[in-house]
Amino acid sequence: MAQRVTVAEAAAGSKRTSRLRVAVRLRPCVGEQEEKGEGPCVRGLGPQSLEVVNWRNATETLQYQFDVFHGDQATQQEVFLSSVKPVLPHVLNGQNASVFAYGPTGAGKTHTMLGSQEQPGIIPRAVREVFHLVRAQESKQDGWDYSVGMSYLEIYNEKVLDLLSPGSQDLPIREDKDRNILIPGLTHTTLSSFSDFHTHFVPASLNRTTASTKLNQRSSRSHAILLIKVVKSQIGPPHRQQTGKLYLVDLAGSEDNRRTGNKGIRLKESGAINLSLFTLSKVVDSLNAGGSVRIPYRDSKLTRLLQDSLGGSAHSVMITNIAPEYRYYFDTFTALNFAAKSKTIVNKPFVRETVSVPIIAGKRPREDREVQAPSEP
Ligand code: ADP
Ligand code: MG
Repeated sequence: MAQRVTVAEAAAGSKRTSRLRVAVRLRPCVGEQEEKGEGPCVRGLGPQSLEVVNWRNATETLQYQFDVFHGDQATQQEVFLSSVKPVLPHVLNGQNASVFAYGPTGAGKTHTMLGSQEQPGIIPRAVREVFHLVRAQESKQDGWDYSVGMSYLEIYNEKVLDLLSPGSQDLPIREDKDRNILIPGLTHTTLSSFSDFHTHFVPASLNRTTASTKLNQRSSRSHAILLIKVVKSQIGPPHRQQTGKLYLVDLAGSEDNRRTGNKGIRLKESGAINLSLFTLSKVVDSLNAGGSVRIPYRDSKLTRLLQDSLGGSAHSVMITNIAPEYRYYFDTFTALNFAAKSKTIVNKPFVRETVSVPIIAGKRPREDREVQAPSEP
């Protein structure tokens, strides 16, 4: 079943609804010798569905349905167009939106959000598009002025750190009387163009990557959050003002930290990651349940920060990144269950078209390689 988060909100006498869209993106096999011939353990079935091997029973597959499934051939542009571009106009109208990449370390979250010079991801594409939309509005001279700004922060060990002001201390998260979430003291930089964004963002990202190699992959153990704020001001009286916020989030790796045998500082980090991702999952569940369920935003820094941009009248998109290799199987399984909450078990073995493992004398192949599934009836 596709995830359907519906939040009914009474707004100016009418009902506004919004739900969390869930997309799944499968990355291609990033070929390693040892995995050659093993084939993937997950594959797409269509534009909204996929299946994985059922480890409990080889005669079954587990099938999942989402709002969108991006297969391993999906381009950065396709992911942007279908999952992100449609929410951006709302940000110019004083509404909030959030896009976050979820999934185990190595499954493609940073590739999806940030990408590379050759294959830019959602962040550069979205910021470019925001400036494009602003310019288009301005050229209409409709009586409003627009200003775009950015903040960039990291949540690490339940501490909120300003990435535009390295060395800063843990920042508090507050709520104003209109229930907007704000972080006093967080650097906010006004941007005049996309290249201006680039100038500020790149060094801050590099800071984070450098720290990650020194501090044992810190980047996979913290949530990186880019905030793009669009303030729309009426030029004449009554000088109304609307602020739209766009959060672009590269979440910490969702792998089960208990299994990795973490100790000491790693264990503390694991606790913090587990707390925030577990709370995120509870928030998503509560939104999904609808009605008057209390939504536990306050239980972690991540969800507290996203409170006004996740659920309610906000436009939220979660992209769950998964990897095809067998060594990711359990993390894939957990990530899919987080994203889907329900699945269908289909009585049909997972067909591995690409498997052809020669049986070398005296060396039996692993059982899962040995089962050559018959083709579908
Ligand atoms: P994560 O941020 O989830 O830990 P990364 O984005 O760093 O994962 O991806 C792990 C590796 O896989 C990187 O080398 C990345 O370039 C590559 N990769 C991820 N997704 C894709 C994709 N869709 N196409 C090609 N390479 C990818
Ligand atoms: Mg990453």
